[in-house]
Amino acid sequence: MSERFTPLVIVRVHELALKGQNRPFFKRALYENLSYALRDLPVSRIQERALRFIVRLTDPAAWPEVSERLRWVFGVANFSLGLETALTVEAMERGLHELLDRYGPPQGSFRIRVKRTNKSFPLTSPELERELGRLVQKRTGAPVDLSEPDVTYTVEVLYDRALVSGDALPGPGGLPIGVSGRVVALLSGGFDSPVAAYRLMKRGCFVTFVHFHAYPYVRPISIEKAVELARHLSRFQPPKNRLIVVPIGDAQRVIALAAEPSLRVVLYRRLMLRIATAIAHEEGAGALVTGESLGQVASQTLENMRAIGAVTDLPLLRPLVGNNKDEIIAEAVRIGTEPISRVPDDDCCTVFVPLHPATRVTVEQAEAAEQAYDVAALVEQCLARRTVYEGDPFRWDPLMALAAATA
Ligand code: ATP
Ligand code: MG
Repeated sequence: MSERFTPLVIVRVHELALKGQNRPFFKRALYENLSYALRDLPVSRIQERALRFIVRLTDPAAWPEVSERLRWVFGVANFSLGLETALTVEAMERGLHELLDRYGPPQGSFRIRVKRTNKSFPLTSPELERELGRLVQKRTGAPVDLSEPDVTYTVEVLYDRALVSGDALPGPGGLPIGVSGRVVALLSGGFDSPVAAYRLMKRGCFVTFVHFHAYPYVRPISIEKAVELARHLSRFQPPKNRLIVVPIGDAQRVIALAAEPSLRVVLYRRLMLRIATAIAHEEGAGALVTGESLGQVASQTLENMRAIGAVTDLPLLRPLVGNNKDEIIAEAVRIGTEPISRVPDDDCCTVFVPLHPATRVTVEQAEAAEQAYDVAALVEQCLARRTVYEGDPFRWDPLMALAAATA
């Protein structure tokens, strides 16, 4: 009696994420995101069973890469490597033997955890746990530890099969990308905005990235960083990812010639938000996202936030508003954007601005200053010279945006 066990990955979903009427919609989105994340790896079509997704590895050597990718698929609670067996105790025992043959004995103590979706299975969970625990103990001599085991084997008793697997690895949690619609994220080259965008992706949003730069008035490094950051973050997004790069140096020059130096940062930001709002409407996005954090720099006061936010009719989401810089950087390290953000660049908001910009600009002051130039025309001119990146982010070439800025 020899069985061929195909190694498979069991991907578990937060039940809460799938509750209520949205369940089919959420499951569909997660299915598509999983398929996209694993698209070029040797895996079979993904199957869904009782709030789990099952991915068969047609080449067992793919596991490290599959596991690396699953860590970034939002909506995944955890996942583990295992195999499936028929619905009898003997079959589960053979499966467990096979798992130990393949991946070795537990390193340290262990426990067996049985989850019985199928309540009509003849043994209760504790009975099955004892039975299978004895088997592992007898075979390997490893001690059982029910409270803090080094390894937990999970046996999931479903209606048509059982799944036997080793330790579960954590997924990122959150909601599958796409279920919350689209947002436009203002992406600078700094630490904060990529983390802010990531937060919204984790809440189920597609993100269109928008980057503003002042090339050729400054070096083009921020464009390269924005392309790299959007590329990195787009690994988590199914194929509809977009980055829009907008040159605003000429417009900033017009503003700088017309407006008092201390107001310029707020006026630049109002210009950025107007452009981002126009893009959001084109993209069908429901909100804008920035990496602002209250009090982090002089421009991020409540007064300035009000003066800046006044130009958009969309919700302006600031997911980092209550975070310290060190917390934000720690998150940037975890999500892999920190090494890109760390590279020194020229921030377009420092072009033609004084050392001490005003910290309390009112809406009235900003509007009065904008009488000196044609705001709508500036928005149009900037939009006309934008570069749109879409499709495979590994083909995105920063040179395209440079050419557009000087054309
Ligand atoms: P970050 O670390 O994200 O650059 P910051 O701490 O430098 O933020 P600010 O320069 O005040 O803070 O920018 C606040 C937010 O405005 C940024 O998080 C980003 O969302 C947006 N922003 C600033 N500059 C740009 C830019 N050049 N292109 C796109 N968005 C920008
Ligand atoms: Mg910045």
